[in-house]
Amino acid sequence: MSARSLSKDQQQALLDAARAAQLKAYAPYSKFLVGAAVLDDQGRVHAGCNVENAAYPEGVCAEAGALSAMVLAGGQRARAVLVVGTGGEWITPCGGCRQRLREFCAPDTPILTASDVAMGPQFTMAQLLPGGFGPDHLEAKGTKP
Ligand SMILES: [Zn+2]
Repeated sequence: MSARSLSKDQQQALLDAARAAQLKAYAPYSKFLVGAAVLDDQGRVHAGCNVENAAYPEGVCAEAGALSAMVLAGGQRARAVLVVGTGGEWITPCGGCRQRLREFCAPDTPILTASDVAMGPQFTMAQLLPGGFGPDHLEAKGTKP
C-alpha cells in the first residue's frame, strides 16, 4: 500500500485510536504522553501507549504496545502507522521503534505523525530507516557459506 492509498477514514481512525491511547499513557517521569496506532493487513486498528518505569530503561514505547496488540489479534503486517506525542510538535518513532516497525512494514508503508493539535508530515518506512535490517535478510539462510 502506498501512502497515497490511505483513505481519509483510515487516517482518521488511526488518529482517533492513537489519541485515545495517548490519554492512557503511563508517563509519570517524562510527562511526555505518546500514542501509536497500527492499521493491520485485515483493516483493523491497534493502539498502544508509552509505559514508563522507575527503572528507566525498562519503559516501553507506544509503538511497541501497538505492535504487540496487532500480533495478539492475529495481524501479520502493518499497512500504516501513526504516532502522536505531547505538545504542539509532531514526533516520529524513536530509533528502536523504527527497527520494531521494520519487522512488520514494507518500505513504502506510510508512517504518519501528529501533535496534540494537528497532523504532521507523512513518511515511509524506508525514509525513517533507510537500508534497514529486516526479516528478509534472514530468509533462505541457515547454511554455512
Ligand atoms: Zn520508541
